[in-house]
Amino acid sequence: MEKPIHQVLEELTLWLKFQKDSGVDLIHPEVAQSLERLDMAVKRRKNAGQRTVSADLSMVNSLSSLQAIVEQCRACGLSATRNKVVFGEGNTNPVLMIIGEAPGREEDRTGRPFVGKSGELLTKMLRAINIDRQEVFITSVVKCRPPSNRTPHKDEIEACLPYLQRQISLLDPKLILCLGGVAGQAVLGVNSSLSDLRGKFHQLHERKVAVTYHPAYLLRFGGNKQQHLKRKAWHDLQMLQKEYDKSRQKRPG
Ligand code: SF4
Repeated sequence: MEKPIHQVLEELTLWLKFQKDSGVDLIHPEVAQSLERLDMAVKRRKNAGQRTVSADLSMVNSLSSLQAIVEQCRACGLSATRNKVVFGEGNTNPVLMIIGEAPGREEDRTGRPFVGKSGELLTKMLRAINIDRQEVFITSVVKCRPPSNRTPHKDEIEACLPYLQRQISLLDPKLILCLGGVAGQAVLGVNSSLSDLRGKFHQLHERKVAVTYHPAYLLRFGGNKQQHLKRKAWHDLQMLQKEYDKSRQKRPG
């Protein structure tokens, strides 16, 4: 598989650094100097990439153009380990946009958001409040899978957030449902805990934002704990359903 030159440089730099840190003392001084130059070049490249993300997106006026840009993105380290960028999918004139945290293994493999067990539960949660999955647009805060499904790092979220913000502007949903605390914090620009964020609407410009548990979190527990969390999620979903029905009636077809 062909790789872009800066990715090759990055991998080479990491390998050489690893050799150096491991005490391998066979690197010729000229190679060591090249290593330093490479390291600086990679850092410059990364910084340039991040500036591009935030500076140019206001000029991107269609979702398909934005998707083409995101699919080439290398603005953060997650690009090195992803298989597929997961841009998001669904209704491009949605009343409701759903935002998760990051792609998982199945999403990374297929390039589609919320597939696998979490996706099945999300579809059921929506169906329980009479919303078909096809009616909404589904995406996540970061578009590339963090290794081992770890929580995305702050710098990764910051690098990717301009894409999500542009998606929100282009899709213009009346309502946003954030799944999990990471998504709620990133979308609302706050540090509050999930328990502080859920159970009410927040205003984001002219949009209403609700935050609830991520389906993967609900699936992590069994028995009483899961029932308890599902009851709370159900409360959030019913709150969302009322607003969704009102907005759906107002929305021009
Ligand atoms: S996670 Fe976002 S910022 Fe990082 S490489 Fe993927 S698309 Fe780019």
